[in-house]
Amino acid sequence: MKIIKREQLKQKPALDNTLGFGKYFTDYMFTMKYTKEAGWHDAKIQPNEPVQFDLATTIFHYAQGIFEGMKAFLQPDGTISVFRPEENWARMNRSADRMCIPQFPTDVVQEGLDELLKLEKDWIPSAPGTALYIRPTIVATRVMLGVHASTEYLFFIILSPVGSYYAHGLEPTRLLVEDFYVRSSIGGTGEAKCLGNYAASMKAGEEAEKKGFDQVLWLDAQEKKYIEEVGSMNMFFVIDGEVVTPALVGSILPGITRKSCIQVLKDKGIPVSERRISIDEVVEAAEKGTLEEAFGTGTAAVISPVGLIQYRGKDYEICGGKMGKITQMLYETITGIQYGKTADPYGWRKIVK
Ligand SMILES: *Cc1c(COP(=O)(O)O)cnc(C)c1O
Repeated sequence: MKIIKREQLKQKPALDNTLGFGKYFTDYMFTMKYTKEAGWHDAKIQPNEPVQFDLATTIFHYAQGIFEGMKAFLQPDGTISVFRPEENWARMNRSADRMCIPQFPTDVVQEGLDELLKLEKDWIPSAPGTALYIRPTIVATRVMLGVHASTEYLFFIILSPVGSYYAHGLEPTRLLVEDFYVRSSIGGTGEAKCLGNYAASMKAGEEAEKKGFDQVLWLDAQEKKYIEEVGSMNMFFVIDGEVVTPALVGSILPGITRKSCIQVLKDKGIPVSERRISIDEVVEAAEKGTLEEAFGTGTAAVISPVGLIQYRGKDYEICGGKMGKITQMLYETITGIQYGKTADPYGWRKIVK
């Protein structure tokens, strides 16, 4: 892999839990270009510096772009691990297909990521709860107006040392059930990690924040009845001993943390089902006292306990506003594998060589 070195390295922030999320970026990035004639080419590592784009570039007008979110963890023996990266590359190519972006070679980007992580090892924080967040992205770079798929693209990977995703760390979050705005619908782009999904969700997010909530809990677009997910996390509920998560019906992002949690639950013999779950069922369970736990899963937020949901003006407290037992077990199992503190029976930990 070609590496273009920079003359001066950046000043690093304190690499501890004061990092917050997504505020600092490392010295280097991986880039690769696509043109119709040459395909994907020119893979290299170069200084992470501002790049110039013509203002008529497709991405600025039509949001033809996709991204991924992964994390690298420093292991007790000093090596670097990444959690299930092959799953992210596969999902990114599925998102690419949905957005008419050409398929990319996963071996080239994996090699680019490995080289980048080795070069940026000093940026990986080691404090508990911290990691080096990895943001692979593809943007359409052709300079032309008109709603057609671009013929040129830029693939890049930038890195950001991070602490916890929520300002209040592992404290349970407060979610507002949104019954007006919708995030996505079947046949739409909710299954793809594409840029426009996040722009479309901001209005509801802002209104929820103004009312003191951390995030929005989305319902399905057709009936506004079934639970979908939270903007950056998949949802799980524990009702009367059964763990339930919404089935992947086409409008929900197929999370890798979600898939990993389902596997862990099955292996521990805890009943888990992927099915439709209505907000009425959740609210009824809360009223009957059988809603034992609720949590969200995602690379950025890991396993995040939900302490309260509000639906149609009424508050429902969950698990006394504390982290429940199953939530705790999943948090420890997943982070144990990620940080190299426990065995990895699934082979989810990819050590960078
Ligand atoms: C990325 C994302 C998730 C979580 O997916 P992971 O693979 O677990 O990180 C969930 N929902 C949405 C909308 C997302 O963008």
